[in-house]
Amino acid sequence: MIPYGRQSINDSDIEAVNDVLRSDFLTQGPVLPRFEGAVSTYCNSKYGIAVNSATSALHIACLAMGLGRGDYMWTSPNTFVATANCAIYCGAKVDFVDIDSRTYNICPHKLEQKLVEAEKNGNLPKVVIPVHFAGQSCDMVAINKLSKKYGFKIIEDASHAIGGSYNNQKIGSCAYSDITVFSFHPVKIITTGEGGMAVTNDTELARKMKSLRSHGVSNDQLFMNPRPKNEIWNYQQLELGYNYRMTDIQAALGLSQIERLDQFVTKRHLIAKQYDRDLASIPVTIPLQISKAFSSYHLYPILINEKLCGKSQKTIYNMMHQKGIAANLHYIPVHRHPYYEKLGFTVGSFPKAENFFREAISIPIFPKLESKRQSFVIDTLRAALQK
Ligand SMILES: *Cc1c(COP(=O)(O)O)cnc(C)c1O
Repeated sequence: MIPYGRQSINDSDIEAVNDVLRSDFLTQGPVLPRFEGAVSTYCNSKYGIAVNSATSALHIACLAMGLGRGDYMWTSPNTFVATANCAIYCGAKVDFVDIDSRTYNICPHKLEQKLVEAEKNGNLPKVVIPVHFAGQSCDMVAINKLSKKYGFKIIEDASHAIGGSYNNQKIGSCAYSDITVFSFHPVKIITTGEGGMAVTNDTELARKMKSLRSHGVSNDQLFMNPRPKNEIWNYQQLELGYNYRMTDIQAALGLSQIERLDQFVTKRHLIAKQYDRDLASIPVTIPLQISKAFSSYHLYPILINEKLCGKSQKTIYNMMHQKGIAANLHYIPVHRHPYYEKLGFTVGSFPKAENFFREAISIPIFPKLESKRQSFVIDTLRAALQK
């Protein structure tokens, strides 16, 4: 099977991991801060807090912003469930803003309309999480402007988007947000096996997230409470945190991978350009690229509109699988999952995302996709869709 996404591991990656296995520290040793430094330097942010997944990073980012019971978090329905779940972990309520049908990202106009309504009803969100779908940035200038007017905080879910940029600034610079979160799951742009990172320029948010990733425990005299001098207090739990630590084994893989990040993104662009050219003569919609954004092309979603193509999305999806192409679907809108339906969301609530779900197919894109196999994907689609 040709997967839709796959990691690229080389001998240096394996060496880097082996070095840690032979060393004194397997977790949160000397490699972790080097990996955090490499990511924050790459994207030009002040702090990086590495954790065991992007889901954990989203959770502690929400907590650091004080999201809790009675608060609202808004995000895009066109995302992985983790983006919404992180707010529910905090006891907050989740709501969604529909996507722009051209970029598949959260629509800033619909966001504004919903904010106007929410202001009247007294239920403005505390946090908004725009998701850079497929690796292309959301309209962060517009969202940032709205955050100033309506007083919400912004977490960029950049799980797809490390290596991309927006307005000539790297995703993760946090120029238009408070925190940006990356995922290092194997299908994403660089990997640590499992892993994630939150980057920020805010000293207090960084301190808080560091505490939350490791049980809320501190050994810093500056924060520790006074205790009798004859007792041994070499650490104190100051708040309720979690074990969300990333191992040095993972950090070593990440540190080795980030050296090839730009190469990976360049290769993804070459594959995307080839699809752009070859799919132009087939009745499918290719992903629009906006001029302000440079995508990292985590995904290459095409739209199969049955009226245009004469074939349904499901037919094409099944046919690709029969031919050994593991095309995928990103995303089932979060509000359509049974868990979210139980919270009261229904079909028709976010029609653009629902429409996208009924037409989109993610076709293979990853650095190691050979051109012969890419041609096979294109030929298979052409054969299926040419009248
Ligand atoms: C992958 C992904 C996540 C979760 O990442 P993990 O590292 O697997 O926890 C969150 N949001 C989006 C948009 C993702 O694609």
